[in-house]
Amino acid sequence: MNNSFFQNTPLLFEESVNGRCGVILPKLDVEEAPLPKEFLRTELILPELDEASIVRHFTRLSHKNFSVDGQFYPLGSCTMKYNPKMNEEAASQRGFSLAHPLNPDEHNQGSLELLFKLQESLNEITGFDGCSLQCAAGAHGELAGLLMIRSWHEHAAPNGGAVAGTAQGTLRRTRILVPDSAHGTNPATCSMAGFVAQAIPSDAHGAIDMTALKEAVKDDGTLAGMMITLPGTTGLFEKNIVEIIKIIHDAGGLVYGDGANMNALMGIVKPGALGFDVMHLNLHKTFSTPHGGGGPGAGAVVAGKTLADFLPGPVAVQNENTYRLEQPALSIGRLKVFNGNFAVLVRAYAYIRTLGATGLKRASEYAVLNANYLRFLVKDHFPTPYGSDRPCMHEFSASPDLGNGIHTIDIAKRLIDYGFHPPTVYFPLIVKEAFMAEPTETESKETLEAFAATLADIAQEAKTQSELLKEAPHVTPVGRLDDTAAARNPVLRYTWQNS
Ligand SMILES: *Cc1c(COP(=O)(O)O)cnc(C)c1O
Repeated sequence: MNNSFFQNTPLLFEESVNGRCGVILPKLDVEEAPLPKEFLRTELILPELDEASIVRHFTRLSHKNFSVDGQFYPLGSCTMKYNPKMNEEAASQRGFSLAHPLNPDEHNQGSLELLFKLQESLNEITGFDGCSLQCAAGAHGELAGLLMIRSWHEHAAPNGGAVAGTAQGTLRRTRILVPDSAHGTNPATCSMAGFVAQAIPSDAHGAIDMTALKEAVKDDGTLAGMMITLPGTTGLFEKNIVEIIKIIHDAGGLVYGDGANMNALMGIVKPGALGFDVMHLNLHKTFSTPHGGGGPGAGAVVAGKTLADFLPGPVAVQNENTYRLEQPALSIGRLKVFNGNFAVLVRAYAYIRTLGATGLKRASEYAVLNANYLRFLVKDHFPTPYGSDRPCMHEFSASPDLGNGIHTIDIAKRLIDYGFHPPTVYFPLIVKEAFMAEPTETESKETLEAFAATLADIAQEAKTQSELLKEAPHVTPVGRLDDTAAARNPVLRYTWQNS
């Protein structure tokens, strides 16, 4: 067990020694002047330390962070894949990092060409016709997609979605169907875009319940569309997807694809060809740009012919050998300043070009292979309630039962002691005590086996020393927090009692 990252170490303030200083200032060669009183805070007590101690303090703090570069990070649904360092080099090239978005287009041709080629690459990978790189996250892309669907119903749907004789914008089609296995952002997005989310239950196999779906689309003229995650959050491919999309289209709705799980499909399935109308991609998941800690990310939005003109803009367009920015004809407008999180887009483009078509396909194949191997290794203690009789995609949602009153939260906390990031827990909601693991393609066989062996050890501990799990983690500066209180009343500042 290597706990060095987490070991408690002295804190900066406790190391303070009166009069110690990190610099030696030269002798004054001017008259000494008092510091302006209004700027001096008497209550501000600062520690007195040498330079090396300060460097060590901050370096130690940085080591307390958990990271993809440091440890195995099987956080389901989040695709915490390795971030190739070459992408950083690409993004920090001066031509990109110093380019100003207010420069005239002719001075930014390289940046615009990159945006254009990234749009084209994402269209090719997903089988769509249009792409916008404005949005800063997956959830932001969802909002864009639903606003596009809304706009289509208001202005362009056959027979109009708006009630005849009323002002445009009075929407008759207000219902969006959302499977009960969906990510929480999906129903939240429905509300933000002015729709009402209606949950569709899953069947005994974790798939969308077809009977419930057919019931929900019975035409009363209020169906606006459906949001579907493919593969679903149970880690399974939705076998009826083509039929489901047809049912929604026949009922006058459009289909939004939550593409956060595209890591299972690159080079294998094109969601555009399945009939989806619009979808977001999490470039910070599938396309290897760093994420965690809240950003910056990128939620590219891709759309088929029906909705491409509604994309948020501007988007990059090519005109012979020059590139410029243009607002799509019926655009819902701008959703972010300038051209999205540009440096993130450079990283995603570098990743796509480095791997190429063959490499992207292989990444998806290995992601799926790794998830299936890990699922097999842990199946005795971590069985998957849905789809255990068929291959999973790039992740799986297990339902552990280690006995002795041990819950998934205890297993997750104990994994921290062993130096592993816990998988996603208690999501999806339809999986009891959900433990959702996504190893990603870049993990070695040895890492997967070490993780599985640790889970087997934890299952053994649950039998013989269950208190070890109940009180875990044991190696972190703080252990079990009251989650609700910590979220509502976070104490983020260290207070030093100067003696
Ligand atoms: C991550 C994720 C999202 C949201 O993406 P963000 O970039 O975090 O906003 C939506 N749906 C699914 C299935 C996801 O895994």
